[in-house]
Amino acid sequence: MKFYRSGRDAMARLGLAAPAEMAGVEARFPVYVNEYYLGLIDPADWKNDPIARQALPDVAELADRSSSFDPLAEEEQMPVPRLIHRFEDRVVLLATGRCAMRCRFCFRKREWADGAELADISECELAAAAHYLAGHPEIHEVLISGGDPLMLPFPRLKQLVETIAALPSIEVIRIGSRMPVVWPERVTAEIAAFFGEVPGLWFATHFNHPREVTSEAAAACGRLIRAGVPVVNQSVLLRGVNDDPVVLEALFRRLIAIRVKPHYLFHVDPVQAVRHFATGVERGLEILRYFRPRLSSLAVPTFAIDLPEGGGKVALQPQYGCNGEYYDIHETKRIRYETAPGELSE
Ligand SMILES: *Cc1c(COP(=O)(O)O)cnc(C)c1O
Repeated sequence: MKFYRSGRDAMARLGLAAPAEMAGVEARFPVYVNEYYLGLIDPADWKNDPIARQALPDVAELADRSSSFDPLAEEEQMPVPRLIHRFEDRVVLLATGRCAMRCRFCFRKREWADGAELADISECELAAAAHYLAGHPEIHEVLISGGDPLMLPFPRLKQLVETIAALPSIEVIRIGSRMPVVWPERVTAEIAAFFGEVPGLWFATHFNHPREVTSEAAAACGRLIRAGVPVVNQSVLLRGVNDDPVVLEALFRRLIAIRVKPHYLFHVDPVQAVRHFATGVERGLEILRYFRPRLSSLAVPTFAIDLPEGGGKVALQPQYGCNGEYYDIHETKRIRYETAPGELSE
């Protein structure tokens, strides 16, 4: 696979000239995108293209200098390097800082600003993480994230997963990877077969737009699913990309048709250089309202915000009523629903 490390080269591949201001954005937040993902962009309308907006630099990234780079306070919740322990029963393990694409809306942009890159996890760091997990039997799930863990060479990935899976209190491993979306052939038959043999292993991927659900992407998910790995999807609600109920409906329908369960839809975190993608929480609630009468509950993800200061993920729902009076799903009439004890005998 051919990868592009400059906006100018990526734009040239699309037959376009890069705007002059792109260079200044790249100097702060580098470009990294491959042939496959570039091929999903419509060059005729690249400025408004939902695929291009996820991959190509935008001057708006430099406009916001006041927001925090780490509003989720991840750095403060690392008891050992690379391990984020915020909730009682589950942790995040950062396997590498490398990805197959630098998503412009990345909430860990601090890790790669100015060309920095978190190295692949070392033997020593893995041993320290495993030691911490062994000493905390209340932890039952490890979310292997990064970066993208599928950037690791297969033997390293295998060793990492086997080390975690060998811990007696770990029941579930969740691999967080955008590979099916940005580099589908990297989800090799070998990786899929290995994941299928690890008990309790789930795969969480990250589609944001229906145009990303190509035959190649569907085949990558299919390899995992046929190997016995459940695949879920975590999307981000992105202004100018997918903040449209019709677009998201198409995405979620395509995902359930390939047996990928829409799991989360996140509002953009208030991270520096990313906030121009934010829609406002109300927009997410409006979209859920639109879905309620139209879309199978299998296709509807949980809409959530990840609160600053390590407050965690909070799910939000449109309200349909309370105290025994509720709107129907079309919100056209109010219907009584008696539940209080004693009412039956009155
Ligand atoms: C998101 C996250 C998790 C997983 O939370 P779920 O709601 O189970 O998806 C775990 N730890 C941290 C630090 C997280 O940010």
